[in-house]
Amino acid sequence: MRKKIIAGNWKMNKTPSEAAALIHDLKDKCNSGASDVVFCVPYVDLSTALDLLKGTNIAVGAQNMHFEDSGAFTGEISAPMLKEMGVRYVIIGHSERREYFAETDVTVNKKVKKALSAGLIPILCVGETLTQREQGITVDLLRQQTRIAFLDVTAADAAKTVVAYEPIWAIGTGKVATDEQAQEACAAIRRVIGEIYAQATAQAIRIQYGGSVSAANAKGLFAMPDIDGGLVGGASLKADFAQIVNS
Ligand code: PEP
Repeated sequence: MRKKIIAGNWKMNKTPSEAAALIHDLKDKCNSGASDVVFCVPYVDLSTALDLLKGTNIAVGAQNMHFEDSGAFTGEISAPMLKEMGVRYVIIGHSERREYFAETDVTVNKKVKKALSAGLIPILCVGETLTQREQGITVDLLRQQTRIAFLDVTAADAAKTVVAYEPIWAIGTGKVATDEQAQEACAAIRRVIGEIYAQATAQAIRIQYGGSVSAANAKGLFAMPDIDGGLVGGASLKADFAQIVNS
């Protein structure tokens, strides 16, 4: 049985004092331990989140990192920096990073490998645009993104990784994939993991759905056999997040 994992992606929202207020509102309601829960906060909120969530079942994640350990990369943050702080997860290859910051499958693969070697758990995002879905190439696209992301990653490391299936047309749009569409895509990703590694790895890896998850639709999505939780954007900034966690 795979334990569900619900991660909130706060994106570029909340100053440190606002983050503290939100964490105070949410932490007791999200702390049952029945599912793994992660708050992926902006870099400047990491210390606050780590302090306030100490001793709870809620882990802290970052939303990005560089693939080098250190060097002349102005404005970037490395995996060892995050690890030393006590950060446990890092979102990699979010579609907003791919779209606005020119991230590619190749840089995503470098980041996945670096995160794992530093002892961080990547939350690897994959997903198709509306055009790609309409052209019928969703599964081909997911196969390509997944295969490249896991290039030169061992089966043991792959099994620790969390994959987030995030159809781009559903992110921040209020247009959620149906339970069946999300299940079909997550099952396709699991099949690809099975092609790359053994079935045991495919069965161990946790695959989330992300894209307009809300308190109203989480239960149906999370009940699907290949969906092991969610990556939640907008609703992670509200009390709804606790309802999603407890779905
Ligand atoms: C996300 O940011 O990964 C996301 C899924 O956003 P939203 O839930 O707002 O669609």
